[in-house]
Amino acid sequence: MPCKSCGSVNQQKCSAEMCIHFSDIDKPVVWLFPEVVVCLDCGTAELAVPEAELRQLAKGDAAAAAG
Ligand SMILES: [Zn+2]
Repeated sequence: MPCKSCGSVNQQKCSAEMCIHFSDIDKPVVWLFPEVVVCLDCGTAELAVPEAELRQLAKGDAAAAAG
């Protein structure tokens, strides 16, 4: 699928590690290990949050989702 930003097909699929912090400092951080598609022409990166982590983000509570 071509890049949504520049239309280039020069893209690379990578694995990434990402730590999401909520603005509320009392909430635990959520770690993501998504597959990221990076456009090698314009630098736009696209990723989908895995379902389990998505639920953590929705709750804002990593401890509840882990159990
Ligand atoms: Zn692009």
